[in-house]
Amino acid sequence: MTSIPYATQWIDDDDIAAVAAALKSPYLTQGPLVEEFEKAVADYCGVKYAVAMNSGTSALHAACHSAGITKDDEVITSPITFVASANAVLYCGGRPVFADVQEETVNIDPGEIKKKISSKTKAIIPVHFAGHPCDLEEIRDIAREHKLFVIEDAAHALGAEYKGSKIGSCKYSDMTVLSFHAVKHITTGEGGMVTTNDKRLYQELMMFRTHGITREASLLEKKDEDPWYYEMQELGYNYRLTDFQSALGVSQLKKLDNFVSRRREIVAQYHKTFSYLDGIIVPVEKSVVKSSWHIYPARVSGDRRGIFDRLRGKGVGVNVHYIPVYLQPYYQKLGYKKGICPNAESYYAQAITLPLFPKMSDKDVESVINIVKEVCG
Ligand SMILES: *Cc1c(COP(=O)(O)O)cnc(C)c1O
Repeated sequence: MTSIPYATQWIDDDDIAAVAAALKSPYLTQGPLVEEFEKAVADYCGVKYAVAMNSGTSALHAACHSAGITKDDEVITSPITFVASANAVLYCGGRPVFADVQEETVNIDPGEIKKKISSKTKAIIPVHFAGHPCDLEEIRDIAREHKLFVIEDAAHALGAEYKGSKIGSCKYSDMTVLSFHAVKHITTGEGGMVTTNDKRLYQELMMFRTHGITREASLLEKKDEDPWYYEMQELGYNYRLTDFQSALGVSQLKKLDNFVSRRREIVAQYHKTFSYLDGIIVPVEKSVVKSSWHIYPARVSGDRRGIFDRLRGKGVGVNVHYIPVYLQPYYQKLGYKKGICPNAESYYAQAITLPLFPKMSDKDVESVINIVKEVCG
């Protein structure tokens, strides 16, 4: 029996041709296609600047660094996320502080953020879980009141909208981080990006991506130097994306809206049936947002492990997103205690992610629906 994975990329002949053409060009590492990809994403999101990185994780690290996160600073984020959202704070010497999630959306709860603010708090990293945008207006207001940075982790949310504006536009934040990992909305294999409307942050991100080096005349500390002159002004990394990956990104971006529509179509089909099953709680979409549905995180009221095993046994590649970050052994050793985010833990106890990806055929969708009905009905 072939099994249906929970997610997979969709690479077509146009994508392959675009990468092949890039490989035949003189640029293998960072060339003109990186800028073209950055511009295409910035235009799509409606934002001034975009800086490509070699992963979403490096993009998060660069964003935290550019926000000035340093030793002992606290950054508030969600426990229901991939570990990278919190790890980026640790890379900078800061301390992630987990604020509990809303039961309904499983997104960080603005009321819980308020409770976690201290004199050490420097930033908030809201994560648009499953592609459903967080309460950005409330989060922006809290950030303004306490002079905090907002860095959106939008690894799940390219193509999503909040109150009519695209995620990535940074209308309510200082920076937004995207990922182009294979399971995300569009892929470059590995890859990521930071978007911002702030020129100073943009310059920081550009330097951090390449060893802290700049050649920009206006930024140099020593003026009127020789033409080969460059300066390393801070400790950066090599976080550059390649030109051939950017070629894939440009080609994939053209299909983003179709990918999101197909995801939404599949979700509508799931909702139609699963809303009537007693054993399943379906994920919600608030009326002020358009979710880009990165995943379909359902909750089951019965024996989750048994249901998980039976679905896997019948070829439905279910998964679980996520184990609350602070329950990971590394975080436990840092002193985070079980029980600090009760909503996150009770969500995790019931969570089960059903297959959802644009390449899913109608037959696959029907087959998932029938098997879920049989197992959870
Ligand atoms: C995928 C993901 C990341 C990290 O992105 P990579 O490109 O895999 O490094 C960060 N945050 C969230 C929520 C993610 O899902």
